[in-house]
Amino acid sequence: MGGSIELRCGCGEVRGTATGLSPRAVNRVVCYCDDCQAFAHQLGRADLLNAKGGSDIVQMAPAALSFTRGQQHIIGLRLKPNGLYRWYARCCNTPVGNTLTPRIPFVGLLASTFDTPRLDDVVGAPSGEIFGKYAVGEPPPGSTRLNLGLLLRAIGKLLGWRLKGRTWPHPFFSRETGEPLHAVTVLTQEQREALRALCGPRPSAASP
Ligand SMILES: [Zn+2]
Ligand SMILES: [Zn+2]
Repeated sequence: MGGSIELRCGCGEVRGTATGLSPRAVNRVVCYCDDCQAFAHQLGRADLLNAKGGSDIVQMAPAALSFTRGQQHIIGLRLKPNGLYRWYARCCNTPVGNTLTPRIPFVGLLASTFDTPRLDDVVGAPSGEIFGKYAVGEPPPGSTRLNLGLLLRAIGKLLGWRLKGRTWPHPFFSRETGEPLHAVTVLTQEQREALRALCGPRPSAASP
């Protein structure tokens, strides 16, 4: 039924488990989009991005992820009112999962959140790189085109998770109310715009 891996925030207060993992059960891509970059900079965690500003993301079904301690430290951030929910552990500003509402069931976790040096063995290496037009410096090969294969694969996974009832239990939303389990902040437009100077394709400000 696939492997399970422990998760932990940087300081260890927030812990969780991801279960049923295998290369076929997840979607792993490196995302260079400026929203992922902006989120890392907002948290003061540019160290989580690769040299070109990429985020190594492992997407899985919501039901595959559960937190075992430290849930009280989790809060959400949206870069704009209808943007992704970007959940993080405020004890140490570690991202612990990106989601939309449960209607579109997935959770995307940074590879570095997994508490194992052998992540590739369990979920496989990233199957591609996307949104390279926002990469800092020269975009990685193949990362700037629309990757139809990756897109179809991602949609197929989402539909599968939904049809197989893998939306619930959701680690960040209440099944009873459909509402977030944690407080959520939305950046103002000014706050969002201020982050652009730090992000690709051509950062114009040094990361603090
Ligand atoms: Zn922490
Ligand atoms: Zn992104």
